Amino acid sequence: MNQKPDGFDNPVYVTRPMLPPLEEYTAQLAEVWQSAWLTNSGAKHNALESALADKLGAAYFSLFNNGTSALLMACQAMEFTGEVITTPFTFPATTHVLHWNGVTPVFCDIDEETLTIDPAAAEKLITPRTTGILGVHVYGMPCDVKAIDALRSRHGIKVLYDAAHAFGTEIDGVPIAKFGDATMFSFHATKLFHSAEGGGLATADRELKCSFDLLKNFGIRNETEVVMPGINGKMNEVQAALGLVNLSHYDAEHAARQRVAQVYLERLDDIPGIKCFRLPANVRSSMQYFIIRVNSQRSGITRDELYERLKTFNVFTRRYFYPLCSEHECYRTLSSAAPERLPVATRVSREVLALPLYGGLGSDGANKVVDAIRYICNGK
Ligand SMILES: *Cc1c(COP(=O)(O)O)cnc(C)c1O
Repeated sequence: MNQKPDGFDNPVYVTRPMLPPLEEYTAQLAEVWQSAWLTNSGAKHNALESALADKLGAAYFSLFNNGTSALLMACQAMEFTGEVITTPFTFPATTHVLHWNGVTPVFCDIDEETLTIDPAAAEKLITPRTTGILGVHVYGMPCDVKAIDALRSRHGIKVLYDAAHAFGTEIDGVPIAKFGDATMFSFHATKLFHSAEGGGLATADRELKCSFDLLKNFGIRNETEVVMPGINGKMNEVQAALGLVNLSHYDAEHAARQRVAQVYLERLDDIPGIKCFRLPANVRSSMQYFIIRVNSQRSGITRDELYERLKTFNVFTRRYFYPLCSEHECYRTLSSAAPERLPVATRVSREVLALPLYGGLGSDGANKVVDAIRYICNGK
């Protein structure tokens, strides 16, 4: 291809929030108005909570006002103290919630293939102060849940998963929420399933579910008893109503994203130095992100050059996750943050690029993104 492709007339971003027909949302809101009940376990909240428990295959599910507060309170309920082993290859919220709980994050290098915590490296980081592992199913790629479960039994530690990218992920047909002591989901507008802002915790442990529900409502058990120092993490009816409508469009959006991903998978892999990040055949994809890795030695172009040049085609990709959490000023002085201790994560963070992925992009949009990438790489 020698002729420069057209690119897009308007900016194309890495995602576009799912927006259901407005009438469907206003119909839900009419019921909220009728009830004159806006928050504190309202009808929409309760309906969404049980619908999501079903959808995600969770024994118990608790809704929160966002994913970060869900993680914060999960750390409290699970009594994380001392040190918790986590990945640097994630969104900053994962690390921040440990800090906010007075816990020292211990960064563990990632596995080259899964890009999630390397269980062998994690085991070497366990000390008498270690109380848990906070793993991230990054891009919806499951952590090595078997190996991490073995660490949990062997060392008597707890496991919390950040599944912000993994709504709908399954391993051999088993929902991702079934692993670990608890699993956090985010329903932020950038996530496939969303309620503008929102989040939740899945668990099979009844006591944890009770703690989650107390913690998100100031620790209030009844009119006269406050049983723990909780905060306000409640999802309100306006959010929950949007969640209910969006849930009814989830399957269609997931399928539309699969069609976009199919174009990428078929047309990108033969470009020298460009490799699509693929999930194993036994994993159902969440379709949260589509990632390529740029090997600059083979492609002749660095990831950052590709990222910049795509902007001239009105394609705005994201370098998820660069820099690593361990490279940010607030964490870089931790001994586990030294780049030489995180060689895989450091290298991978310089190679990854998230391409636009949302149903409305369509096959035509995906083809245009590929044409731009091919043109840029061929010019090298
Ligand atoms: C989005 C996200 C969060 C935070 O969720 P919010 O609902 O925005 O608070 C945490 N971890 C990861 C990996 C995320 O992508």
